[in-house]
Amino acid sequence: MILRHPLHRYRGFLLDIDGVLVRGGTPLPNAPDALAHLRTIGPVVLLTNNSTKSRQIAAARLSERGVPVCASEVIPSSFIAARYLQREHRSVRFWYLGEGGIPEEMALAGHVLAEPLQAEWIVVGMDRALTYAKLASALGALLAGARLLATNRDATYPTETGLVPGGGAVVGALEGMGFPPEVVVGKPSRIAYHVALEALGIAPEEALMIGDRLETDIAGGHGVGMDTALVLSGISTIAGIEQTGIRPTWVALDFPALVRGEVLTL
Ligand SMILES: [Mg+2]
Repeated sequence: MILRHPLHRYRGFLLDIDGVLVRGGTPLPNAPDALAHLRTIGPVVLLTNNSTKSRQIAAARLSERGVPVCASEVIPSSFIAARYLQREHRSVRFWYLGEGGIPEEMALAGHVLAEPLQAEWIVVGMDRALTYAKLASALGALLAGARLLATNRDATYPTETGLVPGGGAVVGALEGMGFPPEVVVGKPSRIAYHVALEALGIAPEEALMIGDRLETDIAGGHGVGMDTALVLSGISTIAGIEQTGIRPTWVALDFPALVRGEVLTL
């Protein structure tokens, strides 16, 4: 029975957060215990397209809400953006449309916040304080030759009170002005998975991506050669597998069921 457990063949795990561990900020039933158990099989990182928080703050918020995690276990798209630009260009002058996670992680990686017209890169994510004036500043910077990096292009973001505009809404505003992003680092981009695998120190074939969205979590995992597990506690459904043709390696009702080894036969 133990030998047939689907998770024992992997050396590490990438987990989405929303729809897997929490929903609208509240932990899903038994998810914290399942996370603790998963860590006994192999190291875990939480890979999220949310750019609004730094690793430190994201870990603190999850811990406060009853999912104890440390900062080194969280990989938000703010961190992925900073790491990507560090690897490609060492240090850049940047300006941003987004929330606190972007400038915090960019500064930690050695990048320098500049005035829009002096910026080499504009880094964009979900921004709940977006204004026309900020969009105009971004346009000025892009017309002056700044390059555009999107942390993610998620259309919406789930909250306790329903969906709100996500990072994709801000990216879309810039696209509407004629400036599509030069690079998108969040899932399903390969960049996100490579930063997460680098944090785990393992190869794609040794890792499992666990998520609730076929088009991002699962498709992106397959794109870098990883096995994947879809949990049905979030966005995607079994019918979605047929509709999209994106076939996860494993499907489970929710994350605790997956960790117990209860996978569905489709
Ligand atoms: Mg999700």
